[in-house]
Amino acid sequence: MTADASAGTSPDASSLALDAVARTRAGTELAAAQIEQLVADFVAGRIPDYQMSAWLATVACRGLSRAETVALTRAYVTGGETLDFAASGRVVLDKHSTGGVGDTVSLVVVPLVAACGVAVAKMSGRGLGLTGGTIDKMESVRGLRLELDADDVYRMVDEVGMVITGQSARLTPGDKATYALRDVTGTVDSLPLIAASIVSKKVAVGAHGVLFDVKTGAGALIPDQDRALELARLMVEVATGAGLRCQAVLTDMSQPLGYAVGNALEVREALDALRGVDVPGLTGLSRTISALMLRAADHDLTPAAAERKVDEMLAAGAGYEQFLRWAAAQGAEPGALDEPGGLPTAANQTPVLADRAGFVSTVDPRLIGTAAMRVGAGRLVKGGPLDHAAGVVLRRRVGDQVAAGEPLAVIHHRDGVQPPVDLVRDAFRVTESAPAEPPVVLQII
Ligand code: URA
Ligand code: CA
Repeated sequence: MTADASAGTSPDASSLALDAVARTRAGTELAAAQIEQLVADFVAGRIPDYQMSAWLATVACRGLSRAETVALTRAYVTGGETLDFAASGRVVLDKHSTGGVGDTVSLVVVPLVAACGVAVAKMSGRGLGLTGGTIDKMESVRGLRLELDADDVYRMVDEVGMVITGQSARLTPGDKATYALRDVTGTVDSLPLIAASIVSKKVAVGAHGVLFDVKTGAGALIPDQDRALELARLMVEVATGAGLRCQAVLTDMSQPLGYAVGNALEVREALDALRGVDVPGLTGLSRTISALMLRAADHDLTPAAAERKVDEMLAAGAGYEQFLRWAAAQGAEPGALDEPGGLPTAANQTPVLADRAGFVSTVDPRLIGTAAMRVGAGRLVKGGPLDHAAGVVLRRRVGDQVAAGEPLAVIHHRDGVQPPVDLVRDAFRVTESAPAEPPVVLQII
């Protein structure tokens, strides 16, 4: 995909790349056409990795203007597969999270919004590291097809009003090529590069609008709240600049979301929330995001009316019914979601007990995410194996009281896997006095 230093590179392309480095270093804005050419030349192998790396590193230090970031976003999309929902005749929305520990919101929001009559097309990636991917979670459902082609996607949107699928490898070739370089050159952590990368995939997916859930706090891609807010604002501006209806929520990831962390465990938790169980963190955030998406589809809807509609559908179990209809239409085996026996269950459940009484003041999402990964819920390397039944279920969240000897969490694991009890216990801090529970939704952008 990327160029070899000796083969296929071109002197014109190289001088364009060096000119881009010089301009970006000097703070001179690049023309959209130059950015488009730069990415096209890199994808085609006419610019060597080291020159593209030099430009990406310069961007990571000097930044890009809004216009340049929009141009980069469009350049990433060029030459790749794109979808277009114009023929469906309805507004189609997408939802994206920057990734969190135990973040099951998509599995609640997509069916809930669809049950409210607004179509949702969600293309997801797989998880890597501490944060699980929606596709990995959905793989716990036997038979569910998660590699749909464009025609299947359109058909699902027309027939059941929603689709959740893995994204085509042919989407956004420019992002794919540059992301691989960023990954190995320490240039992932740049706000304009992150924004262009994420928004480009949303543009290619072709939905009319997108709701971004930008996480902040210890377990987030960007832990610092001010910087995460900057990313949220940037993504909204860039997505709007690229023609999408867009809003973002800045949300707390200083503790795992809900109770469950792990693939099948999170599917169960999402189904509980859809059946009307108030799952702390998960239910509230899902309601907020769903209401924002309804308003993105219908600008005449007031905030109060949108929230009322979401709550009515939740109370009626309409999102749950929608989930079942969708799963069946997308190939889930009959009974795959029944309890017991449908979703996979771990052979062992090892409790982690509190060694003192008090109030939980911290549940470190990184340690819980690491523990879940150790028992097989997440992968360390791309393509690594997963145990869909494995994970960690919290029994206490921040603000909850606990007595000595009561469970803080339960580790779900298979035979022969050592449960990381100390790691999970270390994630919890228990103090004398009750801390204030942090709000989940910090800001709407
Ligand atoms: N996720 C992406 O898709 N791209 C980034 O640059 C960072 C996170
Ligand atoms: Ca969860």
